[in-house]
Amino acid sequence: MTPSPLTRFPGWGYVGAALGERKLTMAANHSVHAMMVGMSESWWRSGIMPCLRSDVDRDKPVGYIFWLIDGPQGPIVVDTGYHPDYVAPEWAQGKQFIEPPKLLAQAGVKADQIKTVIVTHFHQDHFTGFDYFPNAKFVIQKAELEFWTGPKMRHKILDSQIRPKVRPGLEKLLSEGRVELIDGDRELYPGLDLLKVGGHTPGSQMIALDTAAGKAVLCGDIAYTFKNIRDHHPVGWYYDLGDTVAALDRALATASRPDLAFPNHDVELMQGKRVMRVV
Ligand SMILES: [Zn+2]
Repeated sequence: MTPSPLTRFPGWGYVGAALGERKLTMAANHSVHAMMVGMSESWWRSGIMPCLRSDVDRDKPVGYIFWLIDGPQGPIVVDTGYHPDYVAPEWAQGKQFIEPPKLLAQAGVKADQIKTVIVTHFHQDHFTGFDYFPNAKFVIQKAELEFWTGPKMRHKILDSQIRPKVRPGLEKLLSEGRVELIDGDRELYPGLDLLKVGGHTPGSQMIALDTAAGKAVLCGDIAYTFKNIRDHHPVGWYYDLGDTVAALDRALATASRPDLAFPNHDVELMQGKRVMRVV
């Protein structure tokens, strides 16, 4: 007997399969934890510009956040957190750093069981912690890799954003076949989509996922804060301003509710904790 397509994914049902059309009758619900690996006492100290042409909120603290998604595929991590030995030494000072595996352990997950790390972009606070995930593949937009390894790196201001130890680390991951390059939008798993938006960096991607509360979006650095999203106000560091603004539109158009579009550096998310389930 031919197995029914309904039996291929436990907990999932397809309707219309016989008609050649597959529609999910049950959302693949994911939970999301925000994990704050470190923080700066103010945006001034962080070196990050929260808003384009604005000093508003610059005295507020900044969180450096990575994400744990749990769902039908098991635990998936978004960004790596940072590694204090890989970032600029002066930047690492005074950040109340906690190693990403210790934060994951608080949610009952071991870093070495993570098989998939989605990388929103290559900035040091998002992609210097790859050594913490020895068994993971890293899902990266092709445009991001090409930019940071391409001819524009002749400009010191750009090249200096990739720390010296990251390039050999990245080469090692590539040689081990642990980098999965994506070119554009992609449904990575049922109910979990990668949205290539560029803007902040050429290959920045957001993650859209089904949750019990509806469709949520992890914006990466398209939005540092809820204010970026609420006021439709782009962050102050970008490669393409038009794409950055369009990405804010896309985050809001994709999320079921505005408060399900999550920024990447807002301490408000954490409610005073280092590990916080947000949905
Ligand atoms: Zn960032």
